[in-house]
Amino acid sequence: MAIRPILIAPDPRLKAVSGEVRTVDGDIRGLADDMLESMYAADGIGLAAIQIGVPKRVLVMDLARKDGKKEPRVFINPKIIWTSEETAVCEEGCLSVPDIWEEVERPAQIRAEYLDRDGRLQNLEAEGLLATCLQHEIDHLEGVLFVDHLSRLKRSIALKKLAKAQRLKRAS
Ligand SMILES: [Zn+2]
Repeated sequence: MAIRPILIAPDPRLKAVSGEVRTVDGDIRGLADDMLESMYAADGIGLAAIQIGVPKRVLVMDLARKDGKKEPRVFINPKIIWTSEETAVCEEGCLSVPDIWEEVERPAQIRAEYLDRDGRLQNLEAEGLLATCLQHEIDHLEGVLFVDHLSRLKRSIALKKLAKAQRLKRAS
């Protein structure tokens, strides 16, 4: 396993549309393991493969870390098959948009289909943080960042804040 560097916006690779995984093999499982290690190292709760520069439809997530026990999840070729009309507003952040937190409105409940790390088809109904996180990560597979859901003004303020923070980081 290896920690891989996480791409930071506005890296153009984050805009790429990721391709379907054809076979869930050792390479894909290795990729998922690297992604989990990179996510834990960066103290995140979710990561899409494109965030480490790999344009494949693979996501990892762990929403249980605050309780001290790791509960890693792997989603391959995830697809949202149903969304509720009811929406929910949740404050989101992103390892590729560090230090920026903004409220985003999304469907409150979703149903999704995906392959697990053994390549088995799974179904899942989600609400709350899991629904938010899955929609956020699946957006990455389409080249969409959470700031793309904000109004144009809010987005440009957020991206300027990010650029300034990155400049300061480089200078220090
Ligand atoms: Zn993200």
